[in-house]
Amino acid sequence: MVVADTQVSASAVNNYIASHNITNVSITKQIWGGFPKYKYRHGKGKPEGVVVHETGNSNSTIFDEIAYMKKNYRNAFVHTFIDDDHIINIANTDYLCWGVGYPGNARFVQFEQVQMHSKSSFAHEVENAAYYTAYILNKYNLKPNDAAYDGKGTVWSHNSVAKHLGGSDHTDPVGYYSRTSKKYFHHKYTMKQFYHLVLTNYHNLS
Ligand SMILES: [Zn+2]
Repeated sequence: MVVADTQVSASAVNNYIASHNITNVSITKQIWGGFPKYKYRHGKGKPEGVVVHETGNSNSTIFDEIAYMKKNYRNAFVHTFIDDDHIINIANTDYLCWGVGYPGNARFVQFEQVQMHSKSSFAHEVENAAYYTAYILNKYNLKPNDAAYDGKGTVWSHNSVAKHLGGSDHTDPVGYYSRTSKKYFHHKYTMKQFYHLVLTNYHNLS
């Protein structure tokens, strides 16, 4: 609809990414052999979408987060970590991970974003996250579909998983996007705007 499109095009972050020609870094594979290998509900290599997370830790690096997760994987782990300068894939996305509880874990590829502390690093991180989401959709032949409205789709925030499927009461990355964008861009960044950036990346891939 016209109103929604106007709001989307008004994203200060997406405009900054476009006007500064910010592009994604390439994916680094550092698969760790210690993670368990369980199939998704539809089988090995059959994820149904992507879940976007944010760590909730204001002073950790991507390397701190990966080291912590390897030590504590029995409680939780995700497939991939992202910051402004890295997309590091640590668990095989053909198998499920443990980031959103039941039933989402058996359905989705999941990645964490580390918190950024500057305008440029936030923009680079968001572009990396949108690219990685598009890359996974393309890799597994999934059509982009924002799950926020009806709980059905292929692009999910942890917030939307919690709201529509349960498994936790987490709301990330909504607060982080909103807060960080307000600080550096004077407007909040929303999952709807992120989804638009995923579409841009998806169309560039195909
Ligand atoms: Zn989360």
